[in-house]
Amino acid sequence: MDDGIDASRRRFLELGSVALAAGAISAGAQTQQQVEQGEHSSSSSLPMGQDNSALYHQNPDSVTPPPTDHGNLPAFKYPFTLAHKRVQPGGWTRQVTIADLGIAKEIAGVQMRLIPGGIRELHWHKPSEWSLMLYGNARITCIDPDGKAFVDDVKEGDIWNFPPGYPHSIQGLPPDGCEFLLVFDDGNFDEYETVLLTDWIGHTPPGILAKNFGTSSSPFPPMPPEGRYIFPGTIPGPLQADRKAAEGNLGPSRLPFDFRLLEMPPTKITRGGEVRIIDGNNFRASPQIAAAHVILHPGGLREMHWHPNADEWQYYVKGKGRMTVFAAGARARTMDFEQGDTGYVQQTFPHYIENTGDTDLVFLEMFRSSYYQDVSLSNWLTHLPPQLVIDHLKISQATLDKFPHEERVVMP
Ligand code: MN
Ligand code: MN
Repeated sequence: MDDGIDASRRRFLELGSVALAAGAISAGAQTQQQVEQGEHSSSSSLPMGQDNSALYHQNPDSVTPPPTDHGNLPAFKYPFTLAHKRVQPGGWTRQVTIADLGIAKEIAGVQMRLIPGGIRELHWHKPSEWSLMLYGNARITCIDPDGKAFVDDVKEGDIWNFPPGYPHSIQGLPPDGCEFLLVFDDGNFDEYETVLLTDWIGHTPPGILAKNFGTSSSPFPPMPPEGRYIFPGTIPGPLQADRKAAEGNLGPSRLPFDFRLLEMPPTKITRGGEVRIIDGNNFRASPQIAAAHVILHPGGLREMHWHPNADEWQYYVKGKGRMTVFAAGARARTMDFEQGDTGYVQQTFPHYIENTGDTDLVFLEMFRSSYYQDVSLSNWLTHLPPQLVIDHLKISQATLDKFPHEERVVMP
């Protein structure tokens, strides 16, 4: 045991109890020694110094960590706002991958905006693509390995999933196109290295193209050197006509690739909010990615829990919240989140999410798994021999009896 570390931890714990007892430490109570230790709750009352003032106000739990935070845990938040925005005539896109958020090994995310008629080029890729429409409307297409077509329109609150290698497209519809989130089951995914139709055609010898399509010479004009990616297109006509033309005499794909997420009744609803669980059990087109869509009312808490089966990638759709991740070995860190932020929790690390704003907090929990799975702390503690729990936590039977005896998901 290192006496220095132990002594420092003792001082920190004492400071923590003082802070808890007093509600907060005043500026005057802070000594130079405490400042040098850098592990307590009073730094917010010091002059701002070299802070970025906008970030300072958005991250109160980094500026003033709760006294229960401790140790070195890598950052688990990255805002899409900081990502490079690739702007093209038909829309824009930006991504958060393992290159931005180092711990995010299992999942990467992309935001995309398309103008009315704007097309995300016909393409495919190895990871699965799970998507949530955040705003507006789009027409999506896909084809299954039986050669059968899927064409549908999606609106805000709808999700879709394109399995690995299934080619697909997304096109913005009137009146104002769309904005959506894409989630890929690989942290190393790169949205700028997908297989694009025009990129492939442009890199195939013209004689092969002629032979392949049964024409006397290549049927195509020269293609852009790196493909079209996102470009303005013709606003599509009625859905039924597009469907009929795409299906031909094969009929429609047996698998619907989209799902009306927000039209589904909540999986669980409490006074504090509601959750919808979507995985391979109720959305058959998504055997690779499981999701929970959570709405927390002001003051609501996504209860203390963990996930035995996968890392959790988060996207914050609306509102403000905070999350503490506990990583064992006395390591815990709290970070603040708001609209457009991504978060990440490694498999089995316990956490909670609290709504810290005055509006609903809406977020997604995403998993590289065919099924959703979590363990609720309350449910666990109330399904053990009671004396075992009492001996650990030094509480009375009466206190234990008051705990929720089931998984609530959202409190209160
Ligand atoms: Mn795609
Ligand atoms: Mn979770």
